[in-house]
Amino acid sequence: PTIKPVDLNGLVDEVLGLVAQKSRYAGVKLTTALDQGLPKVAASPSELQQVLLNLVNNAVDAINAEGGTVNVTTTQENGRVKLSVSDTGIGIADANLARIFDPFYTTKPVGQGTGLGLSICYGIINKLGGEIKVTSAKGEGSTFTVILPARQDTT
Ligand code: ADP
Ligand code: MG
Repeated sequence: PTIKPVDLNGLVDEVLGLVAQKSRYAGVKLTTALDQGLPKVAASPSELQQVLLNLVNNAVDAINAEGGTVNVTTTQENGRVKLSVSDTGIGIADANLARIFDPFYTTKPVGQGTGLGLSICYGIINKLGGEIKVTSAKGEGSTFTVILPARQDTT
């Protein structure tokens, strides 16, 4: 894939547009808090879009019939760019947290989940020298955080 400077905030808007309809039907409110001075990251735009789409789709899927919120934030610290996708969904039991990035691990019904999404995210972020982490509380929700090096040269 071609590596170029990518504006993560633009990608967030794009991906939220892609899930807007599904979210509305599911009673999921989409919110953002984006750092307007965010540096770009060096990545393949389509790969990063895939990462974000996987995370946001999982977040929407995690919300039950009572509805909830998916919030996406971007921030920067110490030359790194941080993107978080938080949901107020079902959460992940501690016992399962260690497995969610494994290929083919899924708790979704047959035909609804391949279990490949997070493993693909992990591979893409790792290749870029970044990190992907999760915190979750069963019944309260989850936050997935992607950290990538900021591009030094901002052109
Ligand atoms: P899939 O979505 O096809 O099941 P993923 O690799 O994207 O595969 O996710 C693996 C599993 O991790 C999901 O089936 C689910 O159990 C869990 N998971 C991922 N994201 C979330 C989330 N935001 N909230 C709760 N569980 C999650
Ligand atoms: Mg998924």
